[in-house]
Amino acid sequence: MSQFQPTERTQVKRLPKRGHYDRETVYQILDTAFVCHVGFNVDGQPYVIPTNYGRAGDTLYLHGSAASRMLKTLSEGVPVCVTVTHVDGIVLARSAFHHSVNYRSVVIFGTARLVDSPAEKMEALRIFTEHVMKGRWDDVRQPTEQELKATTVLALPLEEVSAKVRTGGPLDDEADYSLPVWAGVLPLETVAKEPVPDSQRKSDRPVPDYLKNYRR
Ligand SMILES: Cc1cc2nc3c(=O)[nH]c(=O)nc-3n(C[C@H](O)[C@H](O)[C@H](O)COP(=O)(O)OP(=O)(O)OC[C@H]3O[C@@H](n4cnc5c(N)ncnc54)[C@H](O)[C@@H]3O)c2cc1C
Repeated sequence: MSQFQPTERTQVKRLPKRGHYDRETVYQILDTAFVCHVGFNVDGQPYVIPTNYGRAGDTLYLHGSAASRMLKTLSEGVPVCVTVTHVDGIVLARSAFHHSVNYRSVVIFGTARLVDSPAEKMEALRIFTEHVMKGRWDDVRQPTEQELKATTVLALPLEEVSAKVRTGGPLDDEADYSLPVWAGVLPLETVAKEPVPDSQRKSDRPVPDYLKNYRR
């Protein structure tokens, strides 16, 4: 898979060896998460808003209420920065200074486009839903015209993109390796627990396979 071209803005400066621009790494990070943070500026005030997303090829889809400030602002074509982060572990060094975190993250710069064609909007919502829970879209009632009207969908092209990845144990100062301090990594991951059926259900349905086998 090809590479994103690093730009002045996406060049990883500190520890550049941790920077990645290949689509394989970027897609892997985007596809195993479903929460991003969207940064934009309104009248000099920066906002960073957590939200869900879906990806298809080199497009990231965001959606939300047509009344949302984030969606209204972004649909005016203002510059946006979107980040996605996985925390894979806490890195415990022998000195306070060298503590760190194992992570995989992506930073995207760009300008979002309002998706107004009904067909693309419906497809974007399918992609969005399937990104969070693969198999769900065909199982549920599809959006009505009114629901579509109340929903804004934006498409952010993946053009100016960087990924950064830290793996491995602590990197201590040579002199500190003999200190009597536990050092290593506490690995962390998000795991799905037992599904909890809605208390307002009118009939019992078996837990769908896509829920039983849910993994990111
Ligand atoms: C969970 C987590 C915890 C972190 N904790 C710290 C911390 O405590 N202190 C700290 O200084 N740094 C931390 N980092 C790293 C941080 O994200 C930056 O990489 C770091 O601040 C270096 O910035 P810089 O000045 O070199 O680059 P900047 O000038 O800030 O970045 C230049 C460009 O490099 C790219 N880039 C930079 N960082 C990332 C990234 N993480 N993912 C993808 N692209 C990136 C972007 O395109 C950015 O525009 C953490 C990262 C994660 C994911």
